[in-house]
Amino acid sequence: VTDGLMRAAVFHAAHDVRVERVPIPVPADDEALIRVLRCGVCGTDASEWSAGPIMFPLRSRHRVSGHVGPMIPGHEYIGEIVSAPAGSGFVPGQLVASGAGVSCGHCPRCLEGRTNICENYFTYGLNANGGLAEFVATRTSVLVPIPDGIPLDRAGMAQPLAVALHAGRQSGARDGDRVVIIGAGVIGSLILMGLLHLHSNLDVTVIDFAGPKLERSLEIGATRVLEVGDDVGARLAVAIGPRGADVVIEASGAPGQVSTAIHLARAGGRVLAVGLPKAPPPVDMHDLIVREITMVSTNAHVCATDIPEALVLLGSARPAELVFDSVVGLDAVAETLQRLASGELDGKILIDPAI
Ligand SMILES: [Zn+2]
Ligand SMILES: [Zn+2]
Repeated sequence: VTDGLMRAAVFHAAHDVRVERVPIPVPADDEALIRVLRCGVCGTDASEWSAGPIMFPLRSRHRVSGHVGPMIPGHEYIGEIVSAPAGSGFVPGQLVASGAGVSCGHCPRCLEGRTNICENYFTYGLNANGGLAEFVATRTSVLVPIPDGIPLDRAGMAQPLAVALHAGRQSGARDGDRVVIIGAGVIGSLILMGLLHLHSNLDVTVIDFAGPKLERSLEIGATRVLEVGDDVGARLAVAIGPRGADVVIEASGAPGQVSTAIHLARAGGRVLAVGLPKAPPPVDMHDLIVREITMVSTNAHVCATDIPEALVLLGSARPAELVFDSVVGLDAVAETLQRLASGELDGKILIDPAI
């Protein structure tokens, strides 16, 4: 911190992310200044890269955050406290994970504990400057201390794992259920980790194209894997027996997979939609209705419960390392977003702004 400037990846438009020197943010009264140590990029960022701005407030001011114009992405970050408001409980040098999504605490959804669908929600890195920079200012209300002994490359997955834990809760899966996950990418793999953490005696089938992603699912702890194909329903029925799939989780976002998920669920079963489809998907409502399938969805995470639980899980879980790909610097952000958008990445890339 010398000339008041820092390096940051700044999103200007689709396919236009530039590393620039910008002012170090001045934290508000309720914010801490954080030196970013790791920041993940994910499918949401890749969507902005290829088709944005979608959520990024480049053209009109965000109603809650007030941000408008070029923006620093990055909502999956951890770092070290540089300064924090007195009485916040945070001290310089402390390592923290950011939940990134800020809730208001007083709207009807917040009052019922569903802070992730707060009416006044905004997320650092999606609706305000985020963590793809040397420093980021963040509300202390979404910061959680990182327990000692968790390697940074693992702790850097706290936010996406919190999203996965929330998805696991939303799925309604119970101990002993037969669960199917469509999609063995990073999201599907983290949901698999989360489900195995939340429940015992689960029978989990993961479906994707043949290859290393499915092998990784087995290493994480899937009961079995199945390759995508027209007859996958028949093969699933043979594999799990007449009870059928109690819960089917669509984590691929690929065309047609919502209907596949409904088709694979048993009568009276549940389908959880996680993957965001690029275009509105045709859904077989007949199949959904006559077999009384419950369809649910999931958004972000409940910061107060899911981030701490994700950190507990990361403290013990080797599978996090199976999902991790590599650490790169800010100069590689654009290339990483391009690789993510083109679907060639199977693992999590974390950015270290100090590289
Ligand atoms: Zn994300
Ligand atoms: Zn609220």
